[in-house]
Amino acid sequence: MIPLTVSLCQSDDNESAENSLWQRELACAIKDPLELLAAVGLSADDIPGGISPQQTFPLRVPRNYVARMRTGDPTDPLLLQVLPRQLESAIQPDFLHDPVGDTAATTLPGLLHKYHGRVLLITTGTCPVHCRYCFRQHFPYTKNRPGDHQWTAVAEYIAARPEITEVILSGGDPLSLSTKRLRGISNALRHIPHLRRLRVHTRMPIVLPERINDSFLRWLSGLPWQIVLVTHCNHANELGNDVQHALNKLRHIGVTLLNQAVLLKDVNDSVNAQCRLNESLFASGVLPYYLHLLDRVQGAEHFDVPETTAISLMNEIRQRLPGFLVPQLVREIAGEAHKTPINH
Ligand SMILES: *Cc1c(COP(=O)(O)O)cnc(C)c1O
Ligand code: SF4
Repeated sequence: MIPLTVSLCQSDDNESAENSLWQRELACAIKDPLELLAAVGLSADDIPGGISPQQTFPLRVPRNYVARMRTGDPTDPLLLQVLPRQLESAIQPDFLHDPVGDTAATTLPGLLHKYHGRVLLITTGTCPVHCRYCFRQHFPYTKNRPGDHQWTAVAEYIAARPEITEVILSGGDPLSLSTKRLRGISNALRHIPHLRRLRVHTRMPIVLPERINDSFLRWLSGLPWQIVLVTHCNHANELGNDVQHALNKLRHIGVTLLNQAVLLKDVNDSVNAQCRLNESLFASGVLPYYLHLLDRVQGAEHFDVPETTAISLMNEIRQRLPGFLVPQLVREIAGEAHKTPINH
């Protein structure tokens, strides 16, 4: 994950003033842990074990997301996802820098081809929020970020393989790119006859719903493929009114909305938290897709939920929710041909 660069603060997209609106929001995200704590009425002394000093993966959180945190509560599930705590510096031998084997799967700069029929594009290293559990927090983005010209090579790779019918835009967060840059990518792919679906994996509608503006919606609705947008929401409290509004707009232009969450200790590892999350997602027009077991990335051990605990949690959730609101519990195992379902 690389820090937001200055070029993103200056709008490289003159489409309209609305672009500079979300980019300004992004540029003035909170980056100082003490400022974040003050914004929610806490101080460093309130955090068990204390906060961690400057790190390689710095704090970043939009003010809109902070506004959804409870004040005066050091156990707030949104705060815990973004606040760098001292716990991160614990070195665990089985928590790695590249737990899911992304480096080995990098086929071309910016392109991961791990699974049959679909490829994942690393479009940017930038994210609107830095999630402390992120499995890509050590990913070498600077080596893997294709410039606009490299999308031609990516398009040639896909065009030469008729079995690839789906392209997944990932990152970082692909919606950190301006709509103009996104259009550049879709234009490079537009003439590949066997492409049927474009999938976008993004946390942006959840953390910075202003990003889902009219020019973005125009870009999406003008594409020649079916569109699937996979949000990344971990807790019902993340689904504020403006988030629901953004999701509604996406649904109204015919986008299929799915969600993936990560099972996180003290954030969403209770039956209640999971039931509320999946009910609230559906109320916002989003179907649960995956619930990921934590990828064992260095610095995230304090979020780990043991597999046996996760399985019994799933069994309880199944007794409370209709089948279509139960996500698939999966783990990503390096070298496997798909995400691995965890059933018993
Ligand atoms: C997770 C992932 C996908 C998508 O997998 P689905 O099971 O189709 O959601 C595709 N490519 C890579 C490299 C991935 O990590
Ligand atoms: S938004 Fe996704 S890629 Fe970005 S820091 Fe969070 S988990 Fe990682």
